[in-house]
Amino acid sequence: MSEVAGRIAGTIRPDIRELSAYPVAHAEGCIKLDAMESPYELPEAVRDDLARVLRDTPLNRYPAADLSELRQAVKAAFGVPAAAGVLFGNGSDELIHIVVQACCNPGEVVLAPWPSFVYFDMAARFDHARFVGVPLADDLSLDLPAMLAAIREHQPKVVFLAVPNNPTGGAWSDADMAAIIAAAPGLVVVDEAYQPFTDRSWMPRLLDAPNVVVMRTVSKIGLAGLRFGYLAGHPDWVAELDKVRPPYNLDVLTQAALLTVLRHKPVLDAQAARLRADREPLAAALAALPGVRVFPSAANFVLARFSGKLDGNAVHLALKQRKILVRNFSNAHPLLAGCLRISVGSPDENAALLSALQDILSA
Ligand code: PMP
Repeated sequence: MSEVAGRIAGTIRPDIRELSAYPVAHAEGCIKLDAMESPYELPEAVRDDLARVLRDTPLNRYPAADLSELRQAVKAAFGVPAAAGVLFGNGSDELIHIVVQACCNPGEVVLAPWPSFVYFDMAARFDHARFVGVPLADDLSLDLPAMLAAIREHQPKVVFLAVPNNPTGGAWSDADMAAIIAAAPGLVVVDEAYQPFTDRSWMPRLLDAPNVVVMRTVSKIGLAGLRFGYLAGHPDWVAELDKVRPPYNLDVLTQAALLTVLRHKPVLDAQAARLRADREPLAAALAALPGVRVFPSAANFVLARFSGKLDGNAVHLALKQRKILVRNFSNAHPLLAGCLRISVGSPDENAALLSALQDILSA
């Protein structure tokens, strides 16, 4: 063992050494349907606006302490109740850490239906909490009795509910969510990363229960490059969580860009509506392919199971060879055997995907 390897082995936590870093595929020249990004760029007029604003944003000072202008803009743009507080994160990934760090003593439990967003598990581990994933039913719907039993058994400090859920696309019913919120002894984080693609939201009920916050991101509505997420909740919850937030976590360029883009919010809404409208035709076309099962989705992606002559791994590879990237979940969890998660792309990208799949599956 080299000297460095020896020092690493004696220093880095064994559970960290065993992990792989969060996977981000190289995408040069590819059709990118693996990360639920919007395929649509901002229109010229918005980009001109951005260029002007960013030119005039001073970089020599730390971000201002008073973020009330941005706070007001975000609350107005996204329908956050006036009485709620909001906390900003460098992506909602950072907010997930903040919640776990603020709530969990070492070894205390973070719980979520599973499979769900992999970072709930990763962040919990990094932050010395214990993650409990409660298996979904075989059809990837929520197993409410199992959730309630697990909450009773593990008394989680934090429950994450991604609605719609990633990577399955399903949206848990309001009644199931209410039952989980009522049973949870700690904080329930409703992660609405994919809310722009459904009519449902917990936001109007944000302040009804004493233990709920709603987390959102702008990543799925055309701004994944900005790294901005927000968490809304009772101001007292937000004040506690804010103590853990890294200083100046939201840089001045992100703040300025966001304020500018939010003045053009209807553009983002129209792009999201387009993706939402294109979801069902894509799902139907996928479901018509031989050996493919598509799970119901309320998000900007669909989960498809390949169990014909070619399995998920083979189809994933064949698509990659044709420079089409989708996310392979075949080996991630037994409930996801054979499953690929496919973002809804532009009409041309969707057509290219379907034609490639026709080719691959009929070969
Ligand atoms: N929550 C869910 C359910 C997600 O799927 C994702 C992104 N994959 C995130 C949060 C993180 O989003 P962000 O880009 O804001 O960090």
